[in-house]
Amino acid sequence: MTEPVLSTHGITRSFGALKASDDISIDLQPGEIHAIIGPNGAGKSTLIGQISGSLTPDAGTVRFLGHDVTRETVRARARRGLGRTFQISALAMEDTVLQNALLGALGASGRPWRFFGAALRTRDLRDRAEAALDRVGLADVASVRTAELSHGQRRLLEVAVALTLDPKAFVMDEPMAGLGPEGSKQLTGFLDTLRAEAPILLVEHDMDAVFALADRISVLVYGRVIATGTVDEIRADPAVRDAYLGD
Ligand code: ADP
Ligand code: MG
Repeated sequence: MTEPVLSTHGITRSFGALKASDDISIDLQPGEIHAIIGPNGAGKSTLIGQISGSLTPDAGTVRFLGHDVTRETVRARARRGLGRTFQISALAMEDTVLQNALLGALGASGRPWRFFGAALRTRDLRDRAEAALDRVGLADVASVRTAELSHGQRRLLEVAVALTLDPKAFVMDEPMAGLGPEGSKQLTGFLDTLRAEAPILLVEHDMDAVFALADRISVLVYGRVIATGTVDEIRADPAVRDAYLGD
Protein backbone atom coordinates (compact mmCIF):
# COMPACT_ATOMS: atom_id res chain seq x y z
CA MET A 1 0.00 0.00 0.00
CA THR A 2 1.25 3.51 -0.75
CA GLU A 3 1.75 5.90 2.14
CA PRO A 4 -1.31 8.06 2.78
CA VAL A 5 -1.12 11.78 2.00
CA LEU A 6 -1.74 12.64 5.63
CA SER A 7 -1.81 10.52 8.76
CA THR A 8 -1.75 10.62 12.54
CA HIS A 9 -0.22 7.85 14.63
CA GLY A 10 -1.40 7.50 18.20
CA ILE A 11 -1.77 11.21 18.84
CA THR A 12 -2.76 12.11 22.35
CA ARG A 13 -3.40 15.52 23.85
CA SER A 14 -4.66 16.45 27.30
CA PHE A 15 -5.98 19.68 28.75
CA GLY A 16 -5.41 19.20 32.47
CA ALA A 17 -7.15 15.98 33.43
CA LEU A 18 -9.15 15.86 30.20
CA LYS A 19 -7.86 13.68 27.36
CA ALA A 20 -9.16 15.60 24.34
CA SER A 21 -7.33 13.28 21.92
CA ASP A 22 -6.76 9.72 23.06
CA ASP A 23 -4.47 7.63 20.85
CA ILE A 24 -5.89 8.73 17.50
CA SER A 25 -4.60 7.09 14.32
CA ILE A 26 -6.31 8.13 11.13
CA ASP A 27 -5.24 8.66 7.55
CA LEU A 28 -6.22 10.43 4.38
CA GLN A 29 -5.77 8.67 1.03
CA PRO A 30 -5.34 10.33 -2.38
CA GLY A 31 -8.65 11.49 -3.86
CA GLU A 32 -10.76 10.83 -0.79
CA ILE A 33 -12.95 12.79 1.55
CA HIS A 34 -12.58 11.36 5.05
CA ALA A 35 -15.20 12.83 7.35
CA ILE A 36 -14.75 13.13 11.11
CA ILE A 37 -18.00 13.25 13.02
CA GLY A 38 -18.88 13.22 16.70
CA PRO A 39 -20.74 15.14 19.39
CA ASN A 40 -19.71 18.58 20.63
CA GLY A 41 -16.62 18.34 22.79
CA ALA A 42 -15.54 15.02 21.24
CA GLY A 43 -12.18 16.50 20.29
CA LYS A 44 -12.65 17.19 16.57
CA SER A 45 -11.17 20.70 16.59
CA THR A 46 -8.35 19.51 18.87
CA LEU A 47 -7.51 16.84 16.32
CA ILE A 48 -7.56 19.36 13.45
CA GLY A 49 -5.34 21.69 15.50
CA GLN A 50 -2.69 19.01 15.91
CA ILE A 51 -2.81 18.11 12.24
CA SER A 52 -2.54 21.71 11.05
CA GLY A 53 0.02 22.68 13.69
CA SER A 54 -1.70 25.12 16.03
CA LEU A 55 -1.56 22.48 18.79
CA THR A 56 1.25 20.04 19.61
CA PRO A 57 0.37 16.49 20.66
CA ASP A 58 1.67 15.18 24.00
CA ALA A 59 2.46 11.90 22.25
CA GLY A 60 2.21 10.47 18.76
CA THR A 61 3.13 11.78 15.33
CA VAL A 62 1.61 13.55 12.35
CA ARG A 63 2.90 12.73 8.86
CA PHE A 64 2.27 14.71 5.70
CA LEU A 65 3.56 13.78 2.23
CA GLY A 66 6.14 11.42 3.71
CA HIS A 67 7.47 13.87 6.31
CA ASP A 68 7.12 13.84 10.06
CA VAL A 69 5.59 17.31 10.63
CA THR A 70 4.65 16.81 14.30
CA ARG A 71 6.91 19.63 15.50
CA GLU A 72 6.48 21.95 12.53
CA THR A 73 4.66 25.28 12.70
CA VAL A 74 1.35 26.03 10.97
CA ARG A 75 3.20 28.06 8.34
CA ALA A 76 5.73 25.35 7.63
CA ARG A 77 2.93 22.83 7.10
CA ALA A 78 1.02 25.32 4.95
CA ARG A 79 4.10 25.77 2.78
CA ARG A 80 4.25 22.01 2.29
CA GLY A 81 0.72 22.30 0.92
CA LEU A 82 -1.58 21.67 3.86
CA GLY A 83 -4.66 23.85 3.36
CA ARG A 84 -6.93 24.64 6.29
CA THR A 85 -10.28 26.24 6.99
CA PHE A 86 -11.42 27.12 10.49
CA GLN A 87 -14.50 26.48 12.63
CA ILE A 88 -14.41 30.18 13.54
CA SER A 89 -13.81 32.50 10.63
CA ALA A 90 -10.29 33.89 10.35
CA LEU A 91 -11.18 36.45 7.66
CA ALA A 92 -10.42 40.16 7.96
CA MET A 93 -13.96 41.56 7.84
CA GLU A 94 -13.04 45.16 7.03
CA ASP A 95 -10.81 44.15 4.12
CA THR A 96 -12.12 43.39 0.66
CA VAL A 97 -12.61 39.89 -0.63
CA LEU A 98 -9.56 40.27 -2.87
CA GLN A 99 -7.40 41.50 0.03
CA ASN A 100 -8.30 38.42 2.06
CA ALA A 101 -7.39 36.16 -0.86
CA LEU A 102 -4.15 38.13 -1.30
CA LEU A 103 -3.24 37.52 2.32
CA GLY A 104 -3.50 33.80 1.58
CA ALA A 105 -1.42 34.19 -1.57
CA LEU A 106 1.18 36.20 0.30
CA GLY A 107 1.45 33.55 3.02
CA ALA A 108 1.79 30.86 0.35
CA SER A 109 4.58 32.78 -1.35
CA GLY A 110 6.67 32.85 1.82
CA ARG A 111 7.18 36.60 1.44
CA PRO A 112 7.15 38.59 4.70
CA TRP A 113 3.92 40.17 5.93
CA ARG A 114 5.27 43.69 5.54
CA PHE A 115 5.06 42.99 1.82
CA PHE A 116 1.26 43.12 2.05
CA GLY A 117 0.98 46.79 1.04
CA ALA A 118 2.62 45.97 -2.28
CA ALA A 119 0.78 42.68 -2.80
CA LEU A 120 -2.13 44.29 -4.65
CA ARG A 121 0.29 45.54 -7.27
CA THR A 122 2.24 42.29 -7.50
CA ARG A 123 1.14 40.39 -10.58
CA ASP A 124 1.85 36.80 -9.48
CA LEU A 125 0.15 37.26 -6.11
CA ARG A 126 -2.84 39.00 -7.67
CA ASP A 127 -3.19 36.32 -10.32
CA ARG A 128 -3.07 33.61 -7.68
CA ALA A 129 -5.66 35.37 -5.51
CA GLU A 130 -7.98 36.10 -8.44
CA ALA A 131 -7.73 32.54 -9.75
CA ALA A 132 -8.76 31.20 -6.33
CA LEU A 133 -11.73 33.60 -6.14
CA ASP A 134 -12.77 32.62 -9.63
CA ARG A 135 -12.77 28.94 -8.71
CA VAL A 136 -15.20 29.39 -5.84
CA GLY A 137 -17.38 31.80 -7.83
CA LEU A 138 -16.46 34.98 -5.96
CA ALA A 139 -14.65 36.85 -8.76
CA ASP A 140 -17.59 39.24 -9.15
CA VAL A 141 -17.42 40.38 -5.54
CA ALA A 142 -13.62 40.74 -5.34
CA SER A 143 -13.81 44.44 -4.45
CA VAL A 144 -16.64 44.08 -1.91
CA ARG A 145 -15.90 44.48 1.80
CA THR A 146 -15.86 41.01 3.39
CA ALA A 147 -18.34 42.06 6.09
CA GLU A 148 -20.94 42.59 3.36
CA LEU A 149 -20.80 39.02 2.09
CA SER A 150 -23.46 36.48 2.98
CA HIS A 151 -22.45 33.78 5.42
CA GLY A 152 -22.20 31.27 2.58
CA GLN A 153 -19.99 33.56 0.53
CA ARG A 154 -17.65 33.97 3.51
CA ARG A 155 -17.32 30.21 3.80
CA LEU A 156 -16.45 30.06 0.13
CA LEU A 157 -13.90 32.84 0.63
CA GLU A 158 -12.24 30.79 3.38
CA VAL A 159 -11.92 27.93 0.93
CA ALA A 160 -10.50 30.36 -1.66
CA VAL A 161 -7.89 31.60 0.83
CA ALA A 162 -6.85 27.99 1.42
CA LEU A 163 -6.80 27.37 -2.36
CA THR A 164 -4.17 30.08 -2.92
CA LEU A 165 -1.65 27.57 -1.50
CA ASP A 166 -2.36 25.00 -4.22
CA PRO A 167 -2.89 22.55 -1.37
CA LYS A 168 -1.93 18.90 -1.57
CA ALA A 169 -4.51 18.17 1.15
CA PHE A 170 -7.18 20.05 3.07
CA VAL A 171 -8.34 19.93 6.65
CA MET A 172 -11.66 21.66 7.18
CA ASP A 173 -13.40 22.32 10.49
CA GLU A 174 -17.17 22.52 9.97
CA PRO A 175 -17.17 24.42 6.69
CA MET A 176 -20.99 24.02 6.40
CA ALA A 177 -21.70 25.60 9.80
CA GLY A 178 -24.30 28.34 9.55
CA LEU A 179 -25.00 27.78 5.86
CA GLY A 180 -28.58 27.55 4.65
CA PRO A 181 -29.65 24.68 2.38
CA GLU A 182 -28.61 26.60 -0.76
CA GLY A 183 -25.17 27.42 0.64
CA SER A 184 -24.52 23.86 1.82
CA LYS A 185 -25.54 22.54 -1.56
CA GLN A 186 -23.17 24.89 -3.32
CA LEU A 187 -20.24 24.11 -1.01
CA THR A 188 -20.97 20.36 -1.13
CA GLY A 189 -20.80 20.49 -4.92
CA PHE A 190 -17.54 22.36 -4.80
CA LEU A 191 -15.89 20.00 -2.29
CA ASP A 192 -16.99 17.08 -4.41
CA THR A 193 -14.93 18.42 -7.33
CA LEU A 194 -12.05 19.54 -5.10
CA ARG A 195 -11.25 16.04 -3.84
CA ALA A 196 -9.76 15.00 -7.20
CA GLU A 197 -7.12 17.68 -6.75
CA ALA A 198 -6.48 17.35 -3.02
CA PRO A 199 -8.03 14.93 -0.51
CA ILE A 200 -10.04 16.46 2.33
CA LEU A 201 -10.22 15.63 6.02
CA LEU A 202 -13.64 17.05 6.78
CA VAL A 203 -14.97 17.72 10.26
CA GLU A 204 -18.67 18.30 9.75
CA HIS A 205 -21.95 18.23 11.66
CA ASP A 206 -24.12 18.49 8.56
CA MET A 207 -24.96 14.82 8.04
CA ASP A 208 -26.52 15.37 4.61
CA ALA A 209 -23.20 16.78 3.46
CA VAL A 210 -21.21 14.02 5.18
CA PHE A 211 -23.32 11.23 3.71
CA ALA A 212 -23.19 12.84 0.26
CA LEU A 213 -19.43 13.40 0.26
CA ALA A 214 -17.56 10.99 2.50
CA ASP A 215 -15.64 8.03 1.14
CA ARG A 216 -14.94 7.09 4.76
CA ILE A 217 -16.22 8.36 8.07
CA SER A 218 -14.48 8.19 11.45
CA VAL A 219 -16.53 8.69 14.58
CA LEU A 220 -14.90 10.48 17.48
CA VAL A 221 -16.32 10.22 21.00
CA TYR A 222 -14.51 11.46 24.14
CA GLY A 223 -11.28 11.83 22.21
CA ARG A 224 -11.29 8.29 20.80
CA VAL A 225 -12.08 6.96 17.34
CA ILE A 226 -14.86 4.45 18.02
CA ALA A 227 -15.42 3.46 14.37
CA THR A 228 -14.12 4.06 10.86
CA GLY A 229 -15.95 2.88 7.77
CA THR A 230 -17.93 3.70 4.67
CA VAL A 231 -21.17 5.68 4.90
CA ASP A 232 -23.20 2.45 4.89
CA GLU A 233 -21.02 0.80 7.52
CA ILE A 234 -21.19 3.80 9.83
CA ARG A 235 -24.95 4.23 9.42
CA ALA A 236 -25.47 0.58 10.31
CA ASP A 237 -23.08 0.56 13.31
CA PRO A 238 -25.06 0.19 16.55
CA ALA A 239 -22.31 1.77 18.69
CA VAL A 240 -22.30 4.83 16.45
CA ARG A 241 -26.08 5.14 16.50
CA ASP A 242 -25.94 4.97 20.27
CA ALA A 243 -23.15 7.47 20.69
CA TYR A 244 -23.98 9.97 18.02
CA LEU A 245 -26.50 9.42 15.29
CA GLY A 246 -29.40 8.85 17.67
CA ASP A 247 -32.86 7.44 16.76
P1 ADP B 1 -15.16 19.48 19.25
O1 ADP B 1 -14.47 20.27 18.19
O2 ADP B 1 -15.36 18.04 18.89
O3 ADP B 1 -16.46 20.10 19.68
P2 ADP B 1 -12.90 20.29 20.90
O4 ADP B 1 -11.74 19.65 20.25
O5 ADP B 1 -13.13 21.72 20.64
O6 ADP B 1 -14.22 19.44 20.54
O7 ADP B 1 -12.82 20.08 22.46
C1 ADP B 1 -12.59 18.79 23.03
C2 ADP B 1 -12.53 18.93 24.54
O8 ADP B 1 -11.34 19.62 24.89
C3 ADP B 1 -13.68 19.74 25.12
O9 ADP B 1 -14.04 19.17 26.35
C4 ADP B 1 -13.09 21.11 25.29
O10 ADP B 1 -13.72 21.82 26.33
C5 ADP B 1 -11.64 20.79 25.63
N1 ADP B 1 -10.72 21.84 25.16
C6 ADP B 1 -10.49 22.19 23.89
N2 ADP B 1 -9.56 23.16 23.81
C7 ADP B 1 -9.18 23.42 25.08
C8 ADP B 1 -8.22 24.31 25.69
N3 ADP B 1 -7.47 25.13 24.96
N4 ADP B 1 -8.11 24.30 27.05
C9 ADP B 1 -8.88 23.46 27.79
N5 ADP B 1 -9.76 22.59 27.29
C10 ADP B 1 -9.92 22.56 25.97
MG1 MG C 1 -15.00 21.91 17.09
